Amino acid sequence: MYETAITTQKLNSKDPDGEVMFLLGNANAPFAVWDEKKIGKPTPKKAVKKPPKKKAKLDSAKEYIRIQVSAKHLMLASPVLKKTLSGGWKESEIFAKKGSIDLVVEDWDLDAFLLFLRILHCQHHDLPSSVTLEMLAKIAVMADYYACKNTVAFFANLWIEKLEPAFPTEYSRDLMLWLFVSCFFDKRELFAKSASIAMTKCNAPITNLGLPIPINVLSKSFSDVLASSFIDILYQDRINIDREWYIQHVMKRLKEQRDLYLSKDWSCSLDCCSMLLGALEKQMHLNGLSLPGPQPPFYGISYETLVTAVHSFTIPRWAPISDLTGRYNTEHYCEETRRGYNLLEFKTVCESLLRNW
Ligand SMILES: [Zn+2]
Repeated sequence: MYETAITTQKLNSKDPDGEVMFLLGNANAPFAVWDEKKIGKPTPKKAVKKPPKKKAKLDSAKEYIRIQVSAKHLMLASPVLKKTLSGGWKESEIFAKKGSIDLVVEDWDLDAFLLFLRILHCQHHDLPSSVTLEMLAKIAVMADYYACKNTVAFFANLWIEKLEPAFPTEYSRDLMLWLFVSCFFDKRELFAKSASIAMTKCNAPITNLGLPIPINVLSKSFSDVLASSFIDILYQDRINIDREWYIQHVMKRLKEQRDLYLSKDWSCSLDCCSMLLGALEKQMHLNGLSLPGPQPPFYGISYETLVTAVHSFTIPRWAPISDLTGRYNTEHYCEETRRGYNLLEFKTVCESLLRNW
C-alpha cells in the first residue's frame, strides 16, 4: 500500500543485504529556525531534548525515502538502535521474526542523514573532508538522538577544525549552532567563546532554537537562581543567568555612583556635586536607564551596548561665577570630578565573560 508513495535512496552499503529500511518522512524539515519575531521572547523552561521522531508511524498520505542499512552496524554504533532492534520492544520482535524491519523516521535532512549513516557504516571513503556548520549541526542532533557521539566525534573534530576560521563574532543563528556543536562535542574553548558572545551581545534571553542544548546551559531567570540552592546554581543554565547578572552589575554601579553624588561624602562644592549628579541623571534618562531602571530579563538590552552607553557618558563642563565681579571664572576642575566618572567607567569595563564551563 505504500509502494507508490515511497522513493528509493539506497545507501551504498558494504552490506548490500541490509536488514533495516529507514523510511524517512517529511525529509528536510526546517531546522533550528531563526525566527526574528520569536528571538527575544521567553525561553521554554526545558530545552528540547529529543525531536519527536521516535514514535513516527507510516502515513499513507506522505512520501517516504527508503534507505537500506545494516542492522549490525546500527546496533554496534548506537545503543538506541540496539535497543530498538534487540531490546524486547515491538520493533525488535518483528525484526527477530522476519529478519528485517522498516523503521519510520521523520524530519531528518536527507543529506545529513546519509552522511550520518555512512559514519555508522564505517564508509569513511565516502565522507567529505569538510561540511557546512549547518550540516555538522544536523549530524550532531542525530548523534545526540541515537546516542552515538563517540562514533561521530572523530569526523566532527576534523570538520570543526575547518569551520573554525569562520567563527561568528555576533549573536546569530550560526552562533547558536556553534554553541550546540561545541557543547555536544566537548569543545570547551569554542563553547566558552560562543557562550561569551551570546551573553555579551544578546539583547534578550537566549533561546535554544529547538536544538538539544543541555538544560544547564540555558537559563532560568536570575531571581529563580537566587532562590535555589548552591548546587542548583552550579548546574543551572548559565548563559542567561550570567547575562542578567552582568547587566544588573552595571545598573548597580550606576546607582552607586548616583548615591555617591547624593551623599554627604562628596568633598567638593554643592555646585560641583549638582552638576555631576544632573549630568548623570540626564544621560541615564537619555539611554532609558533612569532608576529603578530596566528589569530582568532585560529585553532590548545587551551587556555590550549597555557598557558602551555608560562609557559614552560625558563629564559636564562648567565654570562658577565669581562672587565679586559676577563674571565667569575659569572652568571648574577638581580631583573629585575626575574620580566620579572615571570610577564608573572603571567599574563597568565590558568583560569577555569567559567562564570555566
Ligand atoms: Zn568639584
